[in-house]
Amino acid sequence: MFKKVLIANRGEIAVRVIRACRDLGIKSVAIYSEADRNSLHVQLADFAYCAGPAPSSESYLNQRRILDLAIASGAEAIHPGYGFLSENSKFAKECEKSGIVFIGPRSDALQLMGDKLTSRKTMMDNGVPVVPGTDKAITSLDDAKKFAAQYGYPILVKASAGGGGKGMRLVESEKSLASAIEGARRESEKAFGNSDVYLEKYLEEPHHIEFQIFGDSHGNIVHLYERECSMQRRHQKVLEESPSPIMTGELRKKMGDVAVRAAKAVNYTNAGTIEFLVDKQRNFYFLEMNTRLQVEHPITELVTDIDIVKLQLAVAHGEAIPFSQSAIKQLGHAIECRIYAEDPENDFLPCPGLIKEFSLPSGPGIRNDEAAYSGYEVPIHYDPMIAKLSCWGESRMAAIGTMQRALNEYTILGIKSSLPFHRALVRHPKFLKGDYTTNFLNEALPELSSEFQAEIKDRDFEEALLVAAGIEAFRKEAIGRERPQGRVSARRVWIQTGRQESLRRL
Ligand code: ADP
Repeated sequence: MFKKVLIANRGEIAVRVIRACRDLGIKSVAIYSEADRNSLHVQLADFAYCAGPAPSSESYLNQRRILDLAIASGAEAIHPGYGFLSENSKFAKECEKSGIVFIGPRSDALQLMGDKLTSRKTMMDNGVPVVPGTDKAITSLDDAKKFAAQYGYPILVKASAGGGGKGMRLVESEKSLASAIEGARRESEKAFGNSDVYLEKYLEEPHHIEFQIFGDSHGNIVHLYERECSMQRRHQKVLEESPSPIMTGELRKKMGDVAVRAAKAVNYTNAGTIEFLVDKQRNFYFLEMNTRLQVEHPITELVTDIDIVKLQLAVAHGEAIPFSQSAIKQLGHAIECRIYAEDPENDFLPCPGLIKEFSLPSGPGIRNDEAAYSGYEVPIHYDPMIAKLSCWGESRMAAIGTMQRALNEYTILGIKSSLPFHRALVRHPKFLKGDYTTNFLNEALPELSSEFQAEIKDRDFEEALLVAAGIEAFRKEAIGRERPQGRVSARRVWIQTGRQESLRRL
C-alpha cells in the first residue's frame, strides 16, 4: 500500500480522504490556501503545505505547485477528491509523467468522458441509450430549429464541457432559442474555456438515478447499486438516498448491467458514476459519467458496507477489487443531506462567517462528514457546503426517522445554514411517500419555505431563551449561590434546566 498520499482538495472531502488514509496507516499530506489555514483538513493531516493565495486558480487549481509539493513531500500518489482537479485529464497526465499515481481513472478515460458530446457518442456506439439530442455542437440556428421541430419544446441547451449546471438553458419556445444558445455559449466559454453547446430533449418530470461503478486495472468492473438524486434545486442535488424509492428488482438489474457496460466501453478504472434520467414510463437514458468520487458516496457505503475511498486507494495501488458483483449486498436504506452555509430565507445566498457553535448529532445510524467546528470561520472563496449528514436504517421509514432526529439535534449557531430547509424537507408528505421527481423542489419550495420560516422564528426564540438562561446561571455562580460548573455555556444550561425552567426564569 502507499505510504504517503497528498490530498489535492479542501473541506469535508479532504477530511474524508485523510481519515481513510489514517485508517490504513498511510501518512496524509494536506494542501491549503491562505484562506484555509485554520481548516479542519489542515489540522487532521499528518503534514500540511500552503499551496498559494485564496483564489482557487492560485492554490487548489495550481497544478505545477501541487505536483511540486507532492514530489517534495515524498507523496507517492495524489487523491483529487471531487471538483477542482479531479476530472482534469491534463493534470492526471502530468501526474503520470511525474511518476505520481493519480487516484482516479486514467487520463484518456477522463478526457473521453469529460466532454458530454464525446461521451454521448461513445455510449451510443456501445448500445447505451442516451437522452435524445444532437450528436454535434450546434453551428447554426437553423439546425437547432430543425431539432426542436423534430422533438418538440421544451428543449435544453447544454454545454459540452458543462458541469455544476453551468451552460445549461431551458427553452420553452422558438422565440427564446437564439438567446438561450448565445447565453449558454458565453457562460460555457467563461467557465470552461469552451463554447460548444448542443441540444437535448427536455424530459418532463424525470428521476435522476445514478449507479456507482468501480473498475480495477485487472479488467474487473462492478456496480455498487443506485442512488436516487432527484431532490434538486436549480439542477443541483440537495438530498440523496439509496435505494431509489421507485426502483424495482428488474429495473435495477437492467440499469446496473447498462452501467457496467458503459464503464467497460472506456476500460474504466477506479470510482465513477453513471448518471441516468428515468422517464414516467421507466425508460432510462444515459445522462453523463462522473469520473471521480461523488459527494453522495457515503449513502452507497452505508448500504453496501464497502469503503469506497479505501477501495480507491487499494485499486490505484494496483490491487484487484476483492469481491465479485454477486457478493455486493444492498442492505437497508441510507439518506444524505448536504449542509450548506447559506440562507434559506434569502434565496439560499451563501452565508460565510464565524460559526459560534457547531454541534453534531450522533447515535445509532448517524454518520457525519464535516469540515467545520465551533470557532471555524467559513471562507467566502469556495463552495459553501460545510458538512454532510447521512443516516442509515433497516427500512426507508427508519432511515427517515433517524434523519429527522439527527437534523433536530444538529446545531449551527453564528451563521445561517440550510438545516431549517432540510428539517422541513424530510417532513414533507411527498418525500415521506418517496413520490418526487427532479421538478419537486421547484413546485414545493414556497410551501416548504413557509414551514422553515416558522421554524427559524421558533429557534431564534429558543436561542434568546438560551442566552437569557446562560446569563441567569452565570449570575448565580458569580454570587456563589450555586456550585460553579466550569465554563457556563448557554447550551449546557439549556440542557440542564430544560425549556420550562428557562421560560419560568424569564
Ligand atoms: P451538470 O453536469 O451541469 O450537473 P447534468 O447533465 O448532470 O448537468 O444535469 C443536471 C440535472 O439537470 C439533471 O439531474 C436533471 O435534473 C437536469 N437535466 C439535465 N438534462 C436533462 C434533460 N434532458 N431533461 C430533463 N432534465 C435534465
